[in-house]
Parts: sequence; structure tokens; C-alpha cells
Amino acid sequence: MAGTHILVINAGSSSIKTALFDGDLAEVLRIEATGIGGIGAVKTGAASEPADLPDNAAALAAIFDALSRQGITLTSLRAVAHRVVHGGTALTAPHRITPAIRQAIADCISLAPLHNPHHLAAIDAVSALAPDLPQCASFDTAFHATIPDIARRYALPDRPDLAGLQRYGFHGTSYAALVRTLPQQSGTLPKRLLAFHLGNGASACAILDGQSVATTMGYSPLSGLTMGTRVGEIDAGAVLRLVRQLGLDQTETLLNHHSGLLGLSGISSDMRTLENSDTPKARFAIDHFCYWAARQAGSLIAAMGGLDAVAFTGGIGENSTLIRTAVLDKLSWMGKFPSYTVAAQEEIQIAGEANALLTT
Ligand code: ADP
Repeated sequence: MAGTHILVINAGSSSIKTALFDGDLAEVLRIEATGIGGIGAVKTGAASEPADLPDNAAALAAIFDALSRQGITLTSLRAVAHRVVHGGTALTAPHRITPAIRQAIADCISLAPLHNPHHLAAIDAVSALAPDLPQCASFDTAFHATIPDIARRYALPDRPDLAGLQRYGFHGTSYAALVRTLPQQSGTLPKRLLAFHLGNGASACAILDGQSVATTMGYSPLSGLTMGTRVGEIDAGAVLRLVRQLGLDQTETLLNHHSGLLGLSGISSDMRTLENSDTPKARFAIDHFCYWAARQAGSLIAAMGGLDAVAFTGGIGENSTLIRTAVLDKLSWMGKFPSYTVAAQEEIQIAGEANALLTT
């Protein structure tokens, strides 16, 4: 007999996060493996245990082990649903994973080399342990499939060898969840909604009539707002100089892992730590974050032809009154508009999308 529970897996490079949902889509348990690549930890609910997690395979095995200690085996589930960062131009809706869909996710590895390989490894690990268990995937890029060409294209020539070099946008699952749940607070969905997902990764999205029409991230999750460790918007000419100066690998590491709030503050990528620090550099990093969030928001407001409401989500967006207030203050030239705070609900969105696929 098929099970009732859906396990959502978000497999990243240094952590694997899972959330278990029951047949009513209520969250019953979270298990996370962090610190992959060394001595990490497996957290089951509120309890955390150190664990040797040399690689992703070990981390997944540790999670499945922790699950089975809670009386849940993979084969007893209804389905596993994966968060997949990149679906390219082909995968613009949630899908049940078939060999063709698995291949399409693999075809997007060149677009998301830091993410999609980890999702595939998790998909394959589940297939090996429970070959008959349905697996689904929700794509972070999918919500942005409605962005018009004018906003999507870089001003590059139309050549076959440049195919795929376009703006995709990310955090789509979070924005889809926000659009679904915001009316619980706002009544009807605001027509021209500026949404901020502010976490370690940060982006903003112009949502017109419930659909993405522009967003700050582009070809990769590296561009747009100042982030925890990612640089955000930077001139391609500066990147070219960095590649000449440091080489490709060091440039990639610098822009992805040593920049953003961490690079500016020299202290931390963590907003809470920066808010509690009184060094000038920490303050500058926070100011930079808020200034660029508001300044790029101006571009999104132009893309929507105005603004009816602002919504914040993500760890910073949900929890930091300081940041929300500073960003809203820098948008006060827009006049009066309501602002909302929405809890990030990526996992339940993914579980719900899998449930819809399995019941149709
Ligand atoms: P991720 O993008 O990895 O999912 P989160 O959405 O959990 O990350 O966001 C993590 C960020 O949220 C960190 O910078 C953290 O400091 C920040 N954050 C969490 N709680 C607070 C708080 N109360 N005040 C300020 N920042 C917070």
C-alpha cells in the first residue's frame, strides 16, 4: 500500500535539508545534515548530533538513518520531492521525475554547476534505495518563466553558441509560496507586488498580477542584490579583470564565497552577527545591503509600472525589523503602500506541488 508522507529534499553542497509532510501536508519533522565535507552535524527536530559527513552520499545516508530511527523508511513514503535550483528553459513547471526529466535536469548542469549535481545525486540515491518510490522536482527558475523576452535577454548576438545565456531568476519556489499565501494577509493579491527574498542568497522580484515579470538574479544566483557571501551586481569588465588577475577558480571563489556582507564587513556573512556588531565596516555592509535592495527595487517598480505593495520573506526579510525598515524608508519616495512579512515556505510549496502531481 502506498504511504501517505512526502519527504522534501533540498540537497546543497554543504548541507542537505529535509522536511517530512503528512497526508494533510502538515509538517511533522525536519532533518538536516550540515557541515558536509568534514565533521558535521545531523539535526533531527531540535536535537543535533555531530557526524562524520565526508560527502553528500554520507550525509544522505545519515539522514535516511535518522528518518528510520523515527520509524520512517523511504519505501514507506508516498513520494520524495526535490528542490532543484535550475530547470533551464525546458523545465518550467513541477515534474514527476522520469528518466527523461532526470536527463533534462542533468542537461542543466552547465547552467547550475554548483547546484544541479547535488540534486541529481540525491535523486539517484533515492532511486537506488527505493526504485518504485515516486519522485518529483520543483524548480527555482520555474516561477520566472513568465518574464518577457525584453527583461530576459542580455544584449548579446543571437548565435547558437550563445544559446542559454539569458536571465533565468531564482528563489521561484519562495515567490510562488508568497503569491499563494499573501492573500491570507492582504485580502486580494496586490496587482503590482514588489517581493524581497532576503536570506543568505537574496533577490527581489516584480510580480504583476501574480506573475514574475522581472527579477534581480540573472543567468546565475550570483547577480542582483548584495548577499551573504555573493557579490551581487558587478560589471562584467571587472569580472574579466579578475579572471586575468586571479584565474577562473579563484575568481569564482571570490565572487561566490568571499564577497557580499562577508567581504564588505570582514566579519561575517550573517546579518544577525552584523547587526550586533558596532564596527564601521559591519555598518557599511548593512547599509550597502539596504541601499542596493532599494535601488534595484526601483528598476523592478519601473518594470511593473508602479507599486501597490511590498512583501518580505527569507531569514532576514522575516526576522529583521532593522533591514525591512531601512529598505522601506529608502522606498518612501513611492508614497504610501502596504508592506507585509511572509514566512518562507519553500518546503511546503514543494510538498504541495508534488501532491498535486501525484493526485492528477
Ligand atoms: P538561506 O538563504 O540559507 O535559506 P535564511 O533564509 O535562513 O538563509 O537566512 C539566513 C539569514 O537570515 C542570515 O543572515 C541570518 O543572520 C538572518 N537572520 C535570521 N534571523 C535574523 C534576525 N532575527 N535578525 C536579523 N537577521 C536574521
